[in-house]
Amino acid sequence: MKRGCLSPNLNLSLPPPEQSISKFLTQSGTFKDGDLRVNKDGIQLVSQSEPGAPPPIKPLDDQLSLADLEVVKVIGKGGGGNVQLVKHKLTCQFFALKVIQLNTEESTCRAISQELRINLYSQCPYLVSCYQSFYHNGAVSIILEFMDGGSLSDLLKKVGRIPEDILGAICKRVLRGLSYLHHERRIIHRDLKPSNLLINHRGEVKITDFGVSKILTNSTSLANTVVGTYHYMSPERIRGNSHGNKSDIWSLGLLFLECATGKFPYSPSEPGERWTNVYEVVDAIVESPPPRAPSGQFSPEFCSFVSDCIQKNPEDRKSARELLEHGFVKMYDEASVDLSSYFSNAGSLTPKLPI
Ligand code: ATP
Ligand code: MG
Repeated sequence: MKRGCLSPNLNLSLPPPEQSISKFLTQSGTFKDGDLRVNKDGIQLVSQSEPGAPPPIKPLDDQLSLADLEVVKVIGKGGGGNVQLVKHKLTCQFFALKVIQLNTEESTCRAISQELRINLYSQCPYLVSCYQSFYHNGAVSIILEFMDGGSLSDLLKKVGRIPEDILGAICKRVLRGLSYLHHERRIIHRDLKPSNLLINHRGEVKITDFGVSKILTNSTSLANTVVGTYHYMSPERIRGNSHGNKSDIWSLGLLFLECATGKFPYSPSEPGERWTNVYEVVDAIVESPPPRAPSGQFSPEFCSFVSDCIQKNPEDRKSARELLEHGFVKMYDEASVDLSSYFSNAGSLTPKLPI
């Protein structure tokens, strides 16, 4: 029996279409939202100039300007815009520059503003650092730490599937980042997926993209795409119900199961069929029993970890803090798993760049 394609009662919480963004822009070319101001010179919280206002926890680099950056190449393309590898002309340091063209939707502006604020107030070795942000010529540009291994999605394309011991080590790092977001900053990521977990030659794994791409996806691209954010969305979010930290835990379990098996955990109901639109995918997520790791192929610890994350009732999922104590995460001694060599042998790292 073929599943019904997106029952009408499923509410994908799409942003309202086409609204004015003029309230976010000043005549002098500044993007503003509340106390946040971004222009060609950088980002600022105006309340910071008031006595007694709490400072952002992270000092921004006032020396960085867009004019000092030279584009080396485009390294990625997402729903919101391009990611470029750029070189600072004076210091020869490399960065990733994410450029998001502002469209006309108010929700897009709000999401960008939220992302910029989270960047200002978050500092953790398991989150990709943001050094400065600009608004210039109708686009917001964010200067990010360059992760020379690209994303877990890029790695997965190269290796097919990722062995359990490597996944255990990656998972520990992602959970530390998620635990910081959930328990220290009270932030729900809302867009955890393989392309938002970045890796580098030091064997580091970091979370990026705090919520922008989710809202940048408009109703047209939702209808036409079979890849993207909605694949990792929890059933309660698809239904449009209230959702919290546990929504990220669902995405985490799903993406680790995909990395272990090499394929997205849901498949079309008819064998040999392909997904034709994203509505079929979200329908499957809401209607089918939660996917499980095949027990013959994986350790009991991994199977139990996946099942502790992928529960249809969010209350049955463990928290990031609890999962850090899970047998699967504790099973692989950090010193015995060399992520740096694994990433390098997988051919996933950008070759050494000329300075
Ligand atoms: P979506 O728009 O649906 O979120 P996405 O996550 O693939 O999709 P982007 O966030 O624009 O889109 O990223 C595109 C790609 O750019 C990533 O998959 C990754 O390969 C690369 N990338 C992004 N940020 C960095 C970074 N800081 N360092 C190195 N590569 C990066
Ligand atoms: Mg991304």
